[in-house]
Amino acid sequence: MNTPVVGRLAPTPSGYLHLGNARSFLLAWLWARREHGRVVMRIEDIDRPRCKPELREAALAELEWLGLDWDAGPHAGDPPGDFDQHTRIKEYRGHLQRLASAGLAYPCTCSRRDVEEAASAPHGDEGPVYPGTCRGRWDSFEQAKAESSITPAWRFKWEGPPVQFHDEVQGDVAIAPSRLGDFVLWRRDDLPSYQLAVTVDDAVQGITQVLRGHDLTSSTARQLALYGALGLTAPKHWAHVPFVQDSQGRRMAKRDGDLALAYLRETGVDPARVIGLLAWSAGLIKDLRPATPQELVPDFELTRIGREDFVVTPEHLAWLQT
Ligand code: GLU
Ligand code: ZN
Repeated sequence: MNTPVVGRLAPTPSGYLHLGNARSFLLAWLWARREHGRVVMRIEDIDRPRCKPELREAALAELEWLGLDWDAGPHAGDPPGDFDQHTRIKEYRGHLQRLASAGLAYPCTCSRRDVEEAASAPHGDEGPVYPGTCRGRWDSFEQAKAESSITPAWRFKWEGPPVQFHDEVQGDVAIAPSRLGDFVLWRRDDLPSYQLAVTVDDAVQGITQVLRGHDLTSSTARQLALYGALGLTAPKHWAHVPFVQDSQGRRMAKRDGDLALAYLRETGVDPARVIGLLAWSAGLIKDLRPATPQELVPDFELTRIGREDFVVTPEHLAWLQT
């Protein structure tokens, strides 16, 4: 029997969703529905207090406004909070402890400055690659804490061959641990890292396919390494999609207020126009026209998306507002 397909939408409610977020969510939703799969809604709100309850509600309401739906998580009949990462810190900590007991995690007392100043540090996708300064440096977390003036982080001791996976959009990917370095599992402010929380959640929630922005392609290598170390089942299919850029050619961000779904909704934009623009930008429909997520399901193909970022112009925005 084939494993049932389960996709997920994983907003971080630290700001309002914009067209770029919406496009990734639409594509993730279409991919799961095209495979007759379930969709899980997960709220990635570890970073409190940046993630606010009103932003969580806004994200859910805006995705519903666009016509997306989901089968598990908030607004889908599950107890409030079960799919909110901030309620699951204990579970993440348990996984950290398993890694530490296996000798696969170590305390690190380096500040960001220390890492930047480590002379030979090459640069990876997220700034300087951590050079492994604290590997074997401390006997225990307590000792590290006592002998340095700061609360240590925990890092993953990442060794072994390059991590390889097939990306449905980018093709075959292979990334050696040394290219990214030992990454943080637990932060110095005593919260799990994105990498650890996402790995645990995708496994626990039975996610079989992940579609997200191409900035996270290298994080998939990190997460696959963690699945291996934790003995957890990893998602089978991955797709890292291009971004939406603002008219200045910058990756869309919170500063672009007029590209926020909240703004579009408040100014009376028809959600079918938003979906139409996003679908057209991703090569899913030939002409720019209003569309619903549902009608895009039968013909959805990941191969149409291509690798180019999409630039939203003032003309596109004017079309949304007509
Ligand atoms: N929560 C992340 C975001 O909103 C997505 C992380 C993921 O898909 O793994 O950008
Ligand atoms: Zn260190």
